[in-house]
Amino acid sequence: MPTLNEIRSTFLNFFDRNDHEVVASSPLVPRNDPTLMFTNSGMVQFKNLFTGVEKRDYSRATTSQKCVRAGGKHNDLDNVGYTARHHTFFEMLGNFSFGDYFKSDAIPYAWDLLTKDFEIDKSKLLVTIYHTDDEAAEIWKKHAGLPDERIIRIATDDNFWSMGPTGPCGPCTEIFYDHGPDIWGGPPGSPEEDGDRFIEIWNLVFMQNERFEDGSMVDLDMQSIDTGMGLERIGALLQGKHDNYDTDLMRNLIEASANATNVDPDGDGNVHHRVIADHLRSTSFLIADGVMPSNEGRGYVLRRIMRRAMRHAHLLGAQDPVMHRLVPSLVAQMGQAFPELGQAQALIEETLELEEKRFKQTLDRGLRLLDDELEKLSDGAALPGEAAFKLYDTYGFPLDLTQDALREKGREVDVAGFDAAMDEQKAKARAAWAGTGEAADASVWFELSEQHEATDFLGYDTETAEGVV
Ligand code: ATP
Ligand code: MG
Ligand code: MG
Ligand code: MG
Repeated sequence: MPTLNEIRSTFLNFFDRNDHEVVASSPLVPRNDPTLMFTNSGMVQFKNLFTGVEKRDYSRATTSQKCVRAGGKHNDLDNVGYTARHHTFFEMLGNFSFGDYFKSDAIPYAWDLLTKDFEIDKSKLLVTIYHTDDEAAEIWKKHAGLPDERIIRIATDDNFWSMGPTGPCGPCTEIFYDHGPDIWGGPPGSPEEDGDRFIEIWNLVFMQNERFEDGSMVDLDMQSIDTGMGLERIGALLQGKHDNYDTDLMRNLIEASANATNVDPDGDGNVHHRVIADHLRSTSFLIADGVMPSNEGRGYVLRRIMRRAMRHAHLLGAQDPVMHRLVPSLVAQMGQAFPELGQAQALIEETLELEEKRFKQTLDRGLRLLDDELEKLSDGAALPGEAAFKLYDTYGFPLDLTQDALREKGREVDVAGFDAAMDEQKAKARAAWAGTGEAADASVWFELSEQHEATDFLGYDTETAEGVV
């Protein structure tokens, strides 16, 4: 049974053999793209090659790219612990053509790697295409011998990728594996598609169009390929598992969490161990790439993930900080492929421990307040925004942590009420400043601070740099 480390190598070697440059993963903080919170797909580091702005001495590349999807348009934070296939941190295996080969090679590469090198059972595979992409349908039929009913035509943006509102775009094709009727879910395009029976493993994007401000589109002269396959998903498949969290690497982290907390990895605590294993990876890699916990922007996303993990450790009964104790296990498994992890090990451990110690001081009291509030509520009622705000303001509970805690109980937060309480507090702070007699200076300060916050959070609403769809 190949390990994830071996599968990564097989992938990169396959494309190396087919004349692709093996390029290292870029950092999780995009180098020159303030609109993007974190690198969320393999194409991010190649954006300027696709638009033709930049040229390099290769026109084909392959990578295993570190990705975080915990903010912005691609946010899988709420899926972690609940689906078999989502992480906040994962590796995206990809092959890229910058004006070199196109569909008629990209589809055969993918199919041959999956069915010949990886020996996946062809009868379990099916694909989606964009509804108008007859060319892709033809190649799937001819090269893979797929019957029409396993080439599903989709008319939504799920199968039409774009880099942003304008610029390169084009149809894509997604390859799915059917894990069988014992698992809930339906084929793509069906009402049950969000289930985990049919799992998307690989997404191939065909950049063949350019879109302009007025919405019109033309064919690109330079046609390109951008693909992404989750290492953990293909890993699960090749290890005969259905669930990403049962792969060797994730399983070792889950066991490290089980040892550190003394809670059975497979009993009721399993979901908490999964969240901890996942969040350990995203927080450690973010710190290794220079993000530190803070109250805004990227640092706040990091803090949110850390605190969420800490609440789950608390639910396992942990009295003392846990996360930092799991770092050696992560470094042992991933440090060779990502040397930055080992180099930053001491910093990662210190940062996690300090944050957990600090948060511990308010976590217990916050959770008690939350329980008290819940007792006051009638069945199914949402938690009032003011209570959620108090948890945020006084106890350091990020909103999504409170939402995560309530989700287990089938409840929600009144988010509009939370926002209103937040606005009210800002207004009060502003008024208090005005009262000091330094109103002019203070208002400049507030504007600056709000603008600063706004730019830092730009990524949430206006993210333009989409990865693979
Ligand atoms: P899904 O529909 O399952 O959420 P996606 O269409 O959002 O996946 P893409 O943006 O196409 O995913 O990313 C390319 C590949 O990366 C996917 O086919 C999948 O194998 C993998 N992938 C995407 N999101 C995650 C995640 N959160 N955790 C692990 N792997 C992921
Ligand atoms: Mg997704
Ligand atoms: Mg998808
Ligand atoms: Mg996809």
